[in-house]
Amino acid sequence: MDKDVKGYNRVFVKGTNGGRARYCRIVAAKILGRKLLANEIVHHADSNAGNDSPENLIICNSQKYHNELHMLLEAKRASGHYNWRKCPYCKQYDNPDNMILRHRTNRIWGQCYHENCLKQYCKERYLKCKEKVSAYSKERYKNKREEICSQMSKAYHSNEKIRNRRKEYYNKNKDSIREKQRLRYLIRKDQKQAVKENIGGK
Ligand SMILES: [Zn+2]
Ligand SMILES: [Zn+2]
Repeated sequence: MDKDVKGYNRVFVKGTNGGRARYCRIVAAKILGRKLLANEIVHHADSNAGNDSPENLIICNSQKYHNELHMLLEAKRASGHYNWRKCPYCKQYDNPDNMILRHRTNRIWGQCYHENCLKQYCKERYLKCKEKVSAYSKERYKNKREEICSQMSKAYHSNEKIRNRRKEYYNKNKDSIREKQRLRYLIRKDQKQAVKENIGGK
């Protein structure tokens, strides 16, 4: 017989897959007169994992029942009352009559909060959530901004190409363009003159 990491006595058992079993389960099986089922858990009443005497063993029919047993024992140890509950927010034990049950689906084992603690807890959770959402939207906005900026710079560069092409064209055909411009100017001047004369003639 040796001890495992948690301090439970182990024995070698022929034919089991690990080759080892907790000694407390064998003692419990002997008391019951049958093999323990897989869901049945053996609890040590004095919290000493190494004490496998029959009067120290309590057989629980499920892990849930075992957890509840531990919760009651912990409440008794910490507050002196089996039925007192620990507030998950302020970590203080209190009479459940002074507290609010948060999860109504689980009336007996649901979390009990002090009224103020629950308010505070909900508020903090709300603020955290809000922060997350605003960070998310900021991130999205940033992405949008980058997208717009890249589009604008693309547009700018394509405009620049067009501008450069125009410049090139202008430099190549400077003389003919200037000539055209001069002619257009003269024609417009003549037209203006003609209009003026017409008005003056009337
Ligand atoms: Zn236990
Ligand atoms: Zn509290």
